[in-house]
Amino acid sequence: MKPAKLDKLGLRSPLDFILHLPLRYEDETVLTPLNAAPPGHPVLVQARVQRAAILFRGKRQLVVNAEGLVLRFFHFRNAQLDQFKQAIEQGLYVRAFGEIRSGLLGAEMAHPRYRFVKPDQALPQTLTPVYPAAAGIGQTRLRGKVLEALDAGPIEDTVPPELRSRFALAAFDESVRLLHRPPPGVELISLVERTHPAWRRVKFDELLAQQLSLKLAYRKRRSRSAPRLRADGALLKSFARALPFKLTRAQTRAMNEVLRDLVQPHPMQRLLQGDVGSGKTIVAAIACLAATDSDHQAAVMAPTEILSEQHARKFSEWLEPLGIRIAWLHGSLSAGQKKRALAGIASGEAQIAIGTHALVQKGVEFRRLGLAVIDEQHRFGVQQRLTLRRKGDDAVPHQLMMSATPIPRTLSMTYFADLDVSVIDELPPGRRPVTTRRFAAGRRAEVLARISASCAEGEQAYWVCPVIEDSKEGVQTAVETYERLRSELAALQVGLLHGRLSPAERSAVMQRFVAGEVQLLVCTTVIEVGVDVPNASLMVIESAERFGLAQLHQLRGRIGRGARESVCILLFGDSLSETARARLQIIFKSTDGFEIAKRDLQLRGPGEYLGERQSGAPLLRFADLERDGELVQQAIDAAEEMLERHPVAARAHVERWLGRRKDLSQT
Ligand code: ADP
Ligand code: MG
Repeated sequence: MKPAKLDKLGLRSPLDFILHLPLRYEDETVLTPLNAAPPGHPVLVQARVQRAAILFRGKRQLVVNAEGLVLRFFHFRNAQLDQFKQAIEQGLYVRAFGEIRSGLLGAEMAHPRYRFVKPDQALPQTLTPVYPAAAGIGQTRLRGKVLEALDAGPIEDTVPPELRSRFALAAFDESVRLLHRPPPGVELISLVERTHPAWRRVKFDELLAQQLSLKLAYRKRRSRSAPRLRADGALLKSFARALPFKLTRAQTRAMNEVLRDLVQPHPMQRLLQGDVGSGKTIVAAIACLAATDSDHQAAVMAPTEILSEQHARKFSEWLEPLGIRIAWLHGSLSAGQKKRALAGIASGEAQIAIGTHALVQKGVEFRRLGLAVIDEQHRFGVQQRLTLRRKGDDAVPHQLMMSATPIPRTLSMTYFADLDVSVIDELPPGRRPVTTRRFAAGRRAEVLARISASCAEGEQAYWVCPVIEDSKEGVQTAVETYERLRSELAALQVGLLHGRLSPAERSAVMQRFVAGEVQLLVCTTVIEVGVDVPNASLMVIESAERFGLAQLHQLRGRIGRGARESVCILLFGDSLSETARARLQIIFKSTDGFEIAKRDLQLRGPGEYLGERQSGAPLLRFADLERDGELVQQAIDAAEEMLERHPVAARAHVERWLGRRKDLSQT
């Protein structure tokens, strides 16, 4: 077996092999008589080999006749023919594992797993493990390597005895041995369903490693120094006295949590979670004031230019009256303007810098960066987040990450365990829930009539086109839809917004929409994150079945921000898949971001939520967050105690499970 192939499976060290656990088991402990084999069930049978030949029956195939059984192979090596011939000469039997089908010549098996035996050769006593494999790596070789690793000697237990007994854990050594070589009489179902104590131990260890590594990462960051900011400075106080609106209870709580962190001499790593429209921006603005009050700068980074412009507008409106100088780095600046903006950031003249990832590019030097706010954090890569640091000294700025994608509790307890989390779980008062309606695409005319009527009454609407924002196809769909709607709704001012427009063009369209000059905005998902135009109260999402749940929820969050009742119309095509139907049903029924996220997690797994975290936080191979919720809590408790009382064992445990990967999670 080529090492490169094993490498693909992540198999290098003996422990890698030991932790390469079976996917399932096959029962080869009993022989089934040929005439008693139930159809459709894999069984072990045995028969004397009589003839073997390569035949052409439409397709080249190796056909082996054994007594009462035909074996057929469509993919084979010529050496296999020779082996069968040899077996015939030696009077050997073939022992084959597979499903029996009745063919023209009686019982048949296609591509069974087989070996040659003497008629009275003993059967295995234990279930046969089947390993996750990659193309080109045979089960037998894989099993050989695993057993070799197991047989090399006892395997150390990284969990101290006292914790093992407290959490009623089976020994590690025994557990992995049992899973690789289940003894006779073990309950197959408990292995298949992974409820056996041996599985419980393995899953516990995996979760424990995840907790330990994230907690270690957390501690490492906490051990760095960060500027102490003040939460009681003059600017913050005067802004707090004259807020544009009264903060909700949840906003106040989140603000206090953030401010408590900022006065510490360690870098804050806080995730501010709140559903779309819950009002995260003002909390960020207040945090920025803590920096300004302490003679430090703040940076606010947004994933799109549209969003950064919106932040620039809001921040100017709120903070410039206090005399705060804001620099907005954006794509339409002339070379001279850009140079001046950069100079302002470098000299500290600009107290708050707002922009996209342009903020982390070369040439952007802060004089004294104290706080980095990262909006819609899942849109950024780890590297981009990390580079938004102070230049030129060791202290790192505080980080406030914001996300409108609610993260289900199970995920924040596991993959996000290295962050502190604040949640804004309340919407500002006066919001009316958005009504969602589903329309088949054939009812487009009714939808157009509805838009005409609403816009005649002074409302504004979005028309969201499907497919990826920046793809050629997506842009074309948007352009065509725009042309079509312009002629269908000739009385309305229609605007077009997509990712291929220049920043200046985009900004101009957005301005006209904000000012109410554009009534219907045809757009791609560029508006998905953060866009805030309270007067827009109608949204049509075309081919809604092609969007993900989180995305639909985000899009819908663009409306329902004003005093008017808002309606979101999901247009869908003819052939809905099962999951697409399920998604539309969920979004139709619920407007609660957390509920939607939970269902989304069930439908799609954690990938979407992790974003860049995928490469950072250790993924789980064995534990299942839904089914093993209880184990998660136990692993959290155990990790806490292990770090306190058994730090050496804790490191050994992380090393065992994450080895090469642990570096990533600690950036
Ligand atoms: P998000 O959390 O989605 O980023 P924003 O910060 O954009 O939400 O806030 C959504 C809208 O609600 C904005 O227009 C904002 O000014 C307004 N807003 C925020 N907090 C309150 C509040 N406590 N009372 C009234 N309006 C608020
Ligand atoms: Mg926002």
